[in-house]
Amino acid sequence: MNIILFGPPGAGKGTQAKYIQEKINGFQISTGDMLRDEIKKDSDIGKKIINDMNDGKFVSDEIVNELIKNIISDPQRKGKLIFDGYPRSLNQAKNLDILLNDSKQKVDLIFFLNVNKDTIVKRIEKRKIIENRADDDSDTIIKRYDTYMETTKPVLEFYSKNPNFYEIDGSLEIEEITAKIDSFIKV
Ligand code: AMP
Repeated sequence: MNIILFGPPGAGKGTQAKYIQEKINGFQISTGDMLRDEIKKDSDIGKKIINDMNDGKFVSDEIVNELIKNIISDPQRKGKLIFDGYPRSLNQAKNLDILLNDSKQKVDLIFFLNVNKDTIVKRIEKRKIIENRADDDSDTIIKRYDTYMETTKPVLEFYSKNPNFYEIDGSLEIEEITAKIDSFIKV
């Protein structure tokens, strides 16, 4: 069962991805974590993306698409992919369809965790204290939220036509969201 978690930064995608990962014995694919790793390693990719990441801007489709390519085709992870933060553009969504199709897979479930800006700002300010992420300050949060909502509108339209698309109120308590997600996952 391949699952996409869709929603603005701070919507709780990472938390729910970890829960689903345990439930289906799956693999969380967080492009944000992968990109932060590249920066930590100070790799060529890391050097290219550091400014955009810290500014709350999206990294280019080319870089992100390349990063996830091998994971999708890995036979061990087949049918157990949990996408957290990908796809974020129509180009990425189409690329994902092609890659899944190439390895005879598909997207089985899409959850849109919908949360308003005020809730996000409050949540990310808390996360800043715990995780100390460079892109978690108030101005950057607002920019990341706006960029996300603006850039991902076509992606949302694309997926909302899928019969397995479910919108969930992301301002609910973690356990309530988990219970809703749970009711759609058949293992
Ligand atoms: P996240 O951890 O998902 O909130 O992502 C943190 C940052 O990583 C974003 O603000 C973007 O700069 C970058 N990023 C993560 N995933 C993507 C993606 N799929 N496409 C473009 N940029 C991304």
